[in-house]
Parts: sequence; structure tokens; C-alpha cells
Amino acid sequence: MLATPGMGHLIPLAELAKRLASRHGATATLITFASTASATQRAFLASLPPAVTSLSLPPVDLSDLPRGAAIETLMSEECARSVPALTSILLDLKRTTGGRLAAFVADLFGADSLDAARAAGVRRRCIFFPTNLHALTLMLHLPELDASVSCEFRDLPEPLRLPGCVPIPGPDILMPLQDKANPCYRWMVHHGGKYRDADAILVNSFDAVEPGPAKILRQPAADHRPVVYPIGPLIHADGRKDEKDALCLEWLDRQPARSVMFVSFGSGGALPTEEMRELALGLELSGQRFLWVVRSPSDEGAVNDNYYDAESKKDPFAYLPEGFVDRVTATGVGLVVPSWAPQTKVLAHAATGGFLTHCGWNSVLESLVYGVPMVAWPLFAEQRQNAVMLSDGVGAALRVPESSKGREEIAATVREVMQGEGKGAAVRAKVAELQKAAAEGLRDGGAAATALAEVVEGWTTTGGQEED
Ligand code: UDP
Repeated sequence: MLATPGMGHLIPLAELAKRLASRHGATATLITFASTASATQRAFLASLPPAVTSLSLPPVDLSDLPRGAAIETLMSEECARSVPALTSILLDLKRTTGGRLAAFVADLFGADSLDAARAAGVRRRCIFFPTNLHALTLMLHLPELDASVSCEFRDLPEPLRLPGCVPIPGPDILMPLQDKANPCYRWMVHHGGKYRDADAILVNSFDAVEPGPAKILRQPAADHRPVVYPIGPLIHADGRKDEKDALCLEWLDRQPARSVMFVSFGSGGALPTEEMRELALGLELSGQRFLWVVRSPSDEGAVNDNYYDAESKKDPFAYLPEGFVDRVTATGVGLVVPSWAPQTKVLAHAATGGFLTHCGWNSVLESLVYGVPMVAWPLFAEQRQNAVMLSDGVGAALRVPESSKGREEIAATVREVMQGEGKGAAVRAKVAELQKAAAEGLRDGGAAATALAEVVEGWTTTGGQEED
């Protein structure tokens, strides 16, 4: 299994590996890129069960790429340039496993690595799509949209309507598609076309959260696209006790049930200084308790740096409004922690009643698994369209109005999700419903468990035979 850079890609792929091991008796090798060998990643890989091992590809030279190249370009280039090294790793694995190499799975930016798997004669080649069916539908339609949409997506006069999907306003469409002159746009179109080389696409989503595209993509493919299997929600629920987690968890232990808004922007997300300050004041104004994972602002160094290494480089508290940390600490209303929090443990805690999230798909799934209603504050990647489908579509989140992200609006949205009797109550009820559906799908005989069993059956009926 090939994990392209970012904990948000590695974590769900590792969950898939663990599930294949525990449910289907498989062993898996996670292959990572040299550029992502952070302490966070090393610790994570070391914590995996013995059936899931890992190895790293050798470094590749990306120094010819322009400074400020988009994260999607960096990942795609790194993957494409690693195909020869990956081919020899796969050939080695074939040798050492005595021909029992059943399948190769690459994640969403790893489509070019399917060439390595083909060259190495790995019979089953799949894409694992760690985000959702809306984003996958867009990716699969990209080659034709590239040919038919002549303007920039952000200038589309009407929201984009794709089969089964919630209409997405142009400016909310996948960030790397927003500037056609940027090489990352071409890369995305390339990946969308390349997905058709896969035998199957495994998606970390479930029918209840996006019933429209689920219905369409689960139909037998008439247009030669690979079969799509929603196998989620696979989340990383780490039950181990870790001293580092005590600060957050002990603070939560002292708060009333469902009283705390958890605020976090994923493994690499950060706000511009001005928005960070408004968020601080908005949280204070909301009168709700909160636990906020604070990162150095995005206008202080490249977002990509954060993404590749989840540790903030500078003291993030220095950018908060004067006296904020002292005030919230003194009143006990809030806890701010730098860089990283044990997110799934926080979401699972009885004191957590809301999640202000950047709508990274792992975060969304984790929130749904633990039944936590969301405030959507999307930043990049596919997060804005996730926010649209969550708020306008299934109704599991309220979005902070994009045009006016001032402290008043922030406070009002936070209060509504935590305690509101109108839209907030509807969101809380919907999330409780989705929590149930998610759990049912993963049980034996549930939709997600059955989908994964079908995939594995496809791998094992060919029994690791390799192409000549
Ligand atoms: N995460 C965490 N603690 C943090 C921030 C993130 O444990 O302080 C985890 C989170 O639980 C999720 C992943 O990192 O599993 C973030 O993935 P997501 O898809 O939400 O966002 P991305 O990092 O890709 O932007």
C-alpha cells in the first residue's frame, strides 16, 4: 500500500491495512515517501500491529520544481519520479512473499504508481480514496469537464451539478482545480483519467452521509470506470494511554457533558493571522467552553511545511490576541494546546459537544463516528466542497458564513451548533442518525463490511497469481 505525503492520507490507509489484517487475515506493507519521515509519522508507524509493516521509498530530487509549488504537484511529482524505485520494491516483495502478493493499493495522489504495480506483475491494482464519493465523482468526471468547461471553475455562473451530487458553487470546487494555469490542475486531470486503470476504487465513505453519489457509483459501471466500494468510515481510534494526551483529556474530564467545542484544522491546516484572532474572540464571545489546537498562522511560513511535518515551527500562541490565553485559562472556559491534540480521544470524550473543523475528510468521519455535530470552516483541498455537502446536503454541519467571518458570526454559529433550537437542533439530530448508520455499516453483514469482503474475494480468487 502506497501512502502519499500527509498524515491525513497515511492514517486511513493504515486503518484499511489493520482491517484487512484483523478481518481477512492479510498482512500489509505500507510504503511511504522519504520526504515525510517526521517524528509524528515515525511514532505512528511504530504503533501499528505486527501484521502491518512499513518501509520508505528512497528520496527523490524535487529541487527543479518552482518554490511554492502546490502540495498536490509535489506529491504527484514525487510519486511519478518514484515509479522505478517502487517497481523494484514490489518485485522484492513478490520474491520475499513467495508469490503471495495479492494486491497493490495506492492512495488518491498515487495513481502513477499503478504503473509500477503493473510492471512488477502485481495482478490486482486498486486506488484507495481517503475522501468521499462527491470528490471521487468529480475526479472521475474531470477529463470530460476539462474538455467541456472553458472558464475557470470559480467563474462558473451556476453551481456544478454532477450525477447524484449536491450542486457545488464554482469557488467551492476542489482547490487544486481553481487555477487552470497551475500545474496542479493538470495533475488532477491526469489522476482522474488514470483512476480508470485501477481494478477497483475503495472509498472511505458510507452511503448514509452521501446517498446520492453512493447510489450512482454503486451501480454496475456502464462507462468502463472501475467498480467503486464505499468501505468506510475507517477511522483511527487509538485506545492506548499516552502521557502526552493527559493535558487535554484531564481538562475534558473536568467539563460537563457535551459542553466543549473542539477546534482543530487537521494535520497541517492553519489560519491567516487576522482570522485566527477573530476566531479567538468569537470563541470567547460564544460563551461556550472550547479546546483549540493552535498552529502558527498560515501567513507565517508555508502551509506545506506544516503539512509535511505536523509540528508548528514557531510559538503559535504569540499570534493570539493580547491576554487571550491568560483570560481563558483563568476563567477555565478554554484550553489552548499547540500543534497537536489526540483528536479521536477528544471527539470520543463525553464532554465534547461540537467540532469546529476544517472539514478534512478524516476529521468529518471521526466526528460522525463519535456523534459530534460540526461547525464547518474549510481551508483547502476538497474541504470547501465537503463543507457544502455537509451543510447544504446531508445537514451534519453549519458553515460559518464565508463572506463575514467576524467574531459575531463565529460566536453565533458555535452557539447554534452547541445549543440552538433551530438549525443547530436539526444538525445534532442528523449527526446522531449518521453515527448509528456508520456503526451498522461496519458490523458483520453491514454495507461497508460486505463491500470490503467483496474486494478481498476479488483478490483471493486470483490467489496472488501474477501476470506473465
Ligand atoms: N489529527 C490529530 N490531532 C490533531 C490534528 C489532526 O489526531 O491535532 C488527526 C485527525 O484525527 C485526523 C487527521 O489527523 O485523523 C487529519 O486528517 P484530515 O483528513 O481531517 O485533515 P488533513 O490533515 O488531511 O488536512
